[in-house]
This record gives sequence, structure tokens and C-alpha cells, in this order.
Amino acid sequence: MAKKMLVDLERCIGCWTCAMACKMCHDLPDDQYRVIVRTNGSGAGIDRPQGVYPNLRMSWQPIYQRSCTWCAERQAEGLPPMCEYECPTEALAYGEETDPESAYSRALARCTDKHYHVFELPDYENSRQGVTYAVK
Ligand code: SF4
Ligand code: SF4
Repeated sequence: MAKKMLVDLERCIGCWTCAMACKMCHDLPDDQYRVIVRTNGSGAGIDRPQGVYPNLRMSWQPIYQRSCTWCAERQAEGLPPMCEYECPTEALAYGEETDPESAYSRALARCTDKHYHVFELPDYENSRQGVTYAVK
């Protein structure tokens, strides 16, 4: 039994609401985040796209830090993780991976039905375990 987060990268708009909601919920200092949002662009800045105009590309990827607790205190009260709850595009879905009716499993099924590529980050990223990404 393990709970996991499914991140549908096709739905992520890079708004950082997940990161800021987590900070507010846990009263984190300015320099601490439990999830950050990486821009997959030129690498020159968080809003710099890749490519040459008009063929520009940019996408975003929430990266969960090892300090993430899956909002244990909220789960104890029967509440979902704050980042999942506040995401405006429903890019995040958390739940038990062995339960086919969990939000995680239903979101994963939706993505695999669309033949999305499903992956996890490698160990060298040093990110939190239990995060599954899906992308076209
Ligand atoms: S996961 Fe949701 S809240 Fe976080 S950056 Fe993407 S769209 Fe925004
Ligand atoms: S699950 Fe909770 S602790 Fe982890 S990043 Fe989301 S809001 Fe923060």
C-alpha cells in the first residue's frame, strides 16, 4: 500500500499555486519550498521559452522536495494535500496506487488511455519518491 501523486504535465500551466499554497499552509520561511515548479524552457530563466520565434516551446514540471510530507496533518483530518486541492487545472491527483478508484489511479488511467508517456524522476534528482508524471 502506497500513496502517490500523479502529475499530468499536459495540464500544468506553471502557475506555482501548488508551491505557494504549500508555503501558506505550512507557514514555511521565504526560502523554503516542499514543491517547486521547474520551467522546461531555455534554461536561461523561469519564463524563457526554448526555440526561435515563432517556434517557441515551454512547459512546466512540479518537483516535489524530500521535505514534502504529503500533508500528513491534513490527511489525518481526512483532507487532501493542499497542493492538489489548490491546483487550478487539476494537474495533480493524489491517492492509493492499489485502489483503482483513487484519484491517483483514475488520473493515471485517463493518461494511459491517451497513450501518455508515464515516468518518475531518477534518483539523482534527489526529489521526493512517489511522484508519477504523465506527458504526451
Ligand atoms: S501543478 Fe497545478 S498548481 Fe502547480 S504549477 Fe502546475 S498548474 Fe499550477
Ligand atoms: S503534499 Fe502537502 S507538504 Fe507536500 S508539497 Fe503538497 S502541500 Fe506541500
